[in-house]
Amino acid sequence: MNDSSAALSDKHGREITYLRISITDRCNLRCSYCTPRDGQVNWLSHEDILSYEEIERLANAFSGLGVRKIRLTGGEPLVRKGVEGLAGRLIKIPGIKEVCLTTNGILLGDMATPLFDAGVRHINISLDTLKPERFLKITGKDLFQNVWQGIEKAIETRFTKIKLNAVAMKGVNDDEIVDLARLSLELPLEVRFIEFMPVGSATTWEKSRHLNCDAIKEMVERSLGDLIPVSQGKDSGPAMIYRLKGAKGSVGFISPLSRHFCGTCNRVRITPDGRLRLCLFSDNEIDLKGWLRAGISNDELKIFLKEAIAQKPKGIISLKDETPHCTRAMSRIGG
Ligand code: SAM
Repeated sequence: MNDSSAALSDKHGREITYLRISITDRCNLRCSYCTPRDGQVNWLSHEDILSYEEIERLANAFSGLGVRKIRLTGGEPLVRKGVEGLAGRLIKIPGIKEVCLTTNGILLGDMATPLFDAGVRHINISLDTLKPERFLKITGKDLFQNVWQGIEKAIETRFTKIKLNAVAMKGVNDDEIVDLARLSLELPLEVRFIEFMPVGSATTWEKSRHLNCDAIKEMVERSLGDLIPVSQGKDSGPAMIYRLKGAKGSVGFISPLSRHFCGTCNRVRITPDGRLRLCLFSDNEIDLKGWLRAGISNDELKIFLKEAIAQKPKGIISLKDETPHCTRAMSRIGG
């Protein structure tokens, strides 16, 4: 039964309405800033990751506590078989208003239609460069054309919202900021620039690579004209959204470092191995898989989740120094 009266709040008064579920740690790319630097990835075994039944059980419990939006992520969520079936079942959970997905786009050419048919309407595609040779350098795979085909297919499929996520990195892709933003002129995409974050002990993050969103916005405006603010709804998330004059799409900025948004954070994450992560930057995780497999009842699970959520940390103190703030790699968190 859906007990929507029981809103899930932490002890700082933030309502938790958004759950990000990483359904696999496996990925078909090896992005330098995301997967461990040495490229040695010890994948979790099938038994170590949550089954789809376990994910559905958790999603049901969270929806009963006020979660309204679920994002499927990874690793790369499209490499796990049956993801469209999972999305379709999650959408049917009472109280869940939206199930969306974050993907690198490699498999989207084939998966866009099944996902749309399952009820997914919003999709985020990660792309940091428009140059195939640079794509190879950043991701370790010569698959730029596959991603581009995936983007074209997503547009053709008429997803309601397609966001293109680019991590902005000085000396890596900062010379493409304007070209990426320009895509929003002709295509119905929200091109979003994300500040490079120090996540994971083996990350390639360096302070010198960090580019803040104010600087990115200035670059775009200098070349393409004024960015006009777009009014946003209450649940629109942390991005600041703008539009170039006459554009079909928009340009967004996500600035976790230069202007962090912990005060309005409404999200928690579940890792592929079934741990509840209350803050992207905190390794203080709570084992849910263990409780599920030990036979916790639905009522006990709800109480347990409520108590766990209350512990969500207030926020990050400062991310401006040079040390990564947590050890788990982004590829095992899901962004
Ligand atoms: N494989 C999927 C993808 O590529 O979108 C989903 C997982 S990926 C971890 C989710 C998002 O996290 C991507 O947009 C990626 O660019 C972003 N990301 C990974 N490492 C990051 C970092 N160090 N700083 C900022 N964003 C990062």
